Amino acid sequence: SLSVAGVSVRFGSKNALLDVDLDVADSEVVAVLGPSGSGKSTLLRVVAGLQEPSAGRVVLDGADVTRVPPHRRGVGLMFQDHALFPHHDVAGNIRFGNSRVDVASLLELVGLPDAGSRRIDTLSGGEQQRVALARALAPSPRLLMLDEPLGQLDRALRERLVVELRRLFVRLGTTVLAVTHDQREAFALADRVVVMAAGRIAQIGTPREVWEQPASEFVARFLGFAN
Ligand code: ATP
Ligand code: MG
Repeated sequence: SLSVAGVSVRFGSKNALLDVDLDVADSEVVAVLGPSGSGKSTLLRVVAGLQEPSAGRVVLDGADVTRVPPHRRGVGLMFQDHALFPHHDVAGNIRFGNSRVDVASLLELVGLPDAGSRRIDTLSGGEQQRVALARALAPSPRLLMLDEPLGQLDRALRERLVVELRRLFVRLGTTVLAVTHDQREAFALADRVVVMAAGRIAQIGTPREVWEQPASEFVARFLGFAN
């Protein structure tokens, strides 16, 4: 399980995050929504260990990891600019210096069983996102963080991949924290939705709760506009 407790992040006089509390259960998929600049990526970066909080704690499976470096946290990360190595093959990108990785089963998992020897720059955008996902899953993370994982894809492909992802996470029992701009995607993917506003959590609830009972005018408007 993941527990974010009283986390704030200050950049100069600006609070990117302000006293954020969030508990995520094992195998739970949580989507993070909110306007640009509301702190979504910062929240993921704090949990991943890429951003030190000015205050508060990050607890993973009962252990305080606030001062633990990213590679020791056992979390997987996938950012929108997935930064694959274009001139290397798919298998090399997934292995990424880790010889114990079972590339074949990861490729099977993301639905690209025959792509191991393909060069990244010969793959379509959607295929590249799957490779990036396989790479994020390679260290068998207990917690997977996705920042706009389907960002650059067209709606049809996003809708298909979201269904596949949801199935995959359920099968693997992975705990997931996923940022998305796309409300429909969030509602299709997640057990619970977090709506952020100016560094704070404006609402947490099931997709249905958030949709049917927005906690504030802000949430109602945001959901209305983001539609
Ligand atoms: P988007 O939807 O545009 O990706 P976001 O919700 O992910 O937005 P963050 O990237 O978390 O937003 O940024 C939150 C706020 O913190 C923004 O105002 C941003 O400019 C600021 N910020 C983030 N990182 C830094 C940094 N390293 N230095 C200064 N300000 C930062
Ligand atoms: Mg962001």
